[in-house]
Amino acid sequence: MAKKYYELTPNERLAFLNLNEHVKAELQANQSDNNAQIVENYMSDFRVPMGLLKDIIIDTHLVNVPMAIEEPSVIAAANNGAKLLNSGGGVAVKLPERTAMIGQILFYGVNFHTLHQFVTTHQEEIFDIAKRAKPSIYKRGGGLVTVNTRQISDDEMSVDFKIDTKDAMGANIVNTILEAEVSLFSEFDKHILGAILTNYAMAQLVTVIGNVTFEAIGGRDIAEKIVALNRFSKNDSYRAVTENKGLFNGIGAVVLATGNDWRAVEASGHAYASQDGHYRSLTHWTIVDEQLHGELTLPISVGTVGGVITAMNQAKNVLDIIHTKSADELRGIILAVGLAQNLAALKAIADGGIQRGHMRMQYRALAVQVGALPQEVPILVSKLTSLPQVDAARATEILMEMRR
Ligand code: NDP
Repeated sequence: MAKKYYELTPNERLAFLNLNEHVKAELQANQSDNNAQIVENYMSDFRVPMGLLKDIIIDTHLVNVPMAIEEPSVIAAANNGAKLLNSGGGVAVKLPERTAMIGQILFYGVNFHTLHQFVTTHQEEIFDIAKRAKPSIYKRGGGLVTVNTRQISDDEMSVDFKIDTKDAMGANIVNTILEAEVSLFSEFDKHILGAILTNYAMAQLVTVIGNVTFEAIGGRDIAEKIVALNRFSKNDSYRAVTENKGLFNGIGAVVLATGNDWRAVEASGHAYASQDGHYRSLTHWTIVDEQLHGELTLPISVGTVGGVITAMNQAKNVLDIIHTKSADELRGIILAVGLAQNLAALKAIADGGIQRGHMRMQYRALAVQVGALPQEVPILVSKLTSLPQVDAARATEILMEMRR
């Protein structure tokens, strides 16, 4: 019997696509046995450029942070933002006493008081079941921290389990515990919709704080403009989405490089940005003691072990470069990069627009796109930078002139 597509080897899968030899060779050159075990119907790796944020001071330590991202100019901007924050002494991180993941058992068509009463009177059994379901996380100092009943609407309720998953992101740990807990609620059986973690990481709220001197930022005027821009994005969702997108340029690049789940971090961040019913900027910039003062608070769920982090050497290598082993430390580092990224973007807008720095980096991508060889890229970029208008046709024309 013919094999199903998912049963084929990566090369057998490629053969189905009638690829030209050049494309096939490139895909094959990017195959790895390790990653072939990670996703279904694996064909090849998709590579993303990775660069370094060199030196950001976090809680008085200098940290180097690899960033994986396809967008030009993000890493340059993060380095600029970090330099500015370093001028004010660097970034300070505030963590909750204990970070935890939240899992939900979802109920419908049930009376809130009946369910709440059940949870209150069965606390001991609930904690015992959690311990039996995942003893290894208790050995590591984690486990169920609290359990609460939350009313969503007249007939929808959630029983929320706060679980300390230590250095793992914890999705599987939480789901394992939840599935064991469901058996206790058998009398509500027909009212249970499901049991699953939430990615809204409200028990993992982390804050980073940084200051920048007026001198470093380019004067009080620029600082005041940054504060006004940031206030604008508290009031205007159009501006807030763009400001938060810029923030996630930095955050997402570190989350991806460390093998963590950037969709989870973004979804949680965007929910937090609209917690009062209006989508707002996540950062907060003010003038304090004659300095520009920035704060960022975000629910952030990441790990330094588990999931694919332990299975992918590329993620382990990045964690080695950052020199971090604890998920709490990584949370602070990711947010610090976010604050630096946001500051750099606001400064660029306040100080004459982002296009100047941005376009130089975009021209490098354009140069590669029109076929410039590595040694030709800087020359072509420099020629394009001096032009009033640039497009792909003009870039090709100049490249051809260079080769004549
Ligand atoms: P794992 O299931 O891999 O669990 C982590 C394991 O790491 C633990 O069970 C523990 O094993 C081991 N470990 C080693 N050292 C430590 C430490 N210091 N702290 C904690 N654990 C340690 O991963 P997660 O539970 O983190 O699940 C993450 C995965 O789940 C990701 O791949 C994610 O994409 C996926 N996922 C995500 C969902 C979502 O976001 N909605 C839904 C479902 C899955 P032991 O103690 O047994 O030795």
